[in-house]
Amino acid sequence: MKTDNPAPLIRLSNIVKRFGSLTAVNNISLEIKPGEKLVIIGPSGSGKSTLLRAINFLEEIDEGTILFEGREVGYVQKKGRMVLDKPSRICKLRSEIGMVFQHFYLFPHMTVLGNVMEGPLTVQKKPVEEARDIAMAMLEKVGIADKKDVYPATLSGGQKQRVAIARAIAMRPKLMLFDEPTSALDPELVGEVFETIRSLAKEGMTMIVVTHQMGFAREIADRVIFMEQGGFIAQGDARDFFSTNQDNERVQSFLAKIL
Ligand code: ADP
Ligand code: MG
Repeated sequence: MKTDNPAPLIRLSNIVKRFGSLTAVNNISLEIKPGEKLVIIGPSGSGKSTLLRAINFLEEIDEGTILFEGREVGYVQKKGRMVLDKPSRICKLRSEIGMVFQHFYLFPHMTVLGNVMEGPLTVQKKPVEEARDIAMAMLEKVGIADKKDVYPATLSGGQKQRVAIARAIAMRPKLMLFDEPTSALDPELVGEVFETIRSLAKEGMTMIVVTHQMGFAREIADRVIFMEQGGFIAQGDARDFFSTNQDNERVQSFLAKIL
């Protein structure tokens, strides 16, 4: 049955994350539909990374629930407190939710191919041959198969980030999180990483992208959220959000500074 209102792939309800007395994520609720591209923008320190890390279970939240494909995931009650689920279950969830960071985090002691094979091999327990085939296909997809035997240290930042993307998509995630994937790159290397993300978007990948690159945000986003002090201050359809009719003053002043 075709429906205009498909079930969300992920639903966050009333997520709170504190670091001591600081509330980094303050009661956020959010739904992402399959295939949707959400861009989150906002000043430094507003909680964007913490939110993405919470979605990938890299930060343990203090309050709230996360539903993935309609199922509450990630946490169990222990002595009346919410705690992260068993590492094995978290690992499985992380294989469905890929994440790419500003600073790549490739394994320096492994070749490019080794980096991309690692998830299918150790998390998904695929046979070596199959893991290699998957990894090669992903390296082809990000246009870097010719570098399969080199170590990350020999790559440019743009190439490293493309390997990091290949590594994430090798697990066939249903959701991809990109946390400022081009912020650490020299300007001339930004384009190749955007091109890779753009091609994943075209294939229908569901994604949340945190970026300060407004041109790219405008191009890729279905929906844009502006975050400040741990909360969503404004959100909207990408076209309306960046239009000259944007009537939220804080968003206006942020955009004026960044553009
Ligand atoms: P953004 O990604 O929007 O720049 P972050 O999510 O990194 O923001 O940070 C939100 C707030 O939480 C900031 O005030 C930051 O200093 C604080 N914060 C982030 N991680 C930690 C941590 N591990 N310990 C303490 N404070 C943190
Ligand atoms: Mg950040």
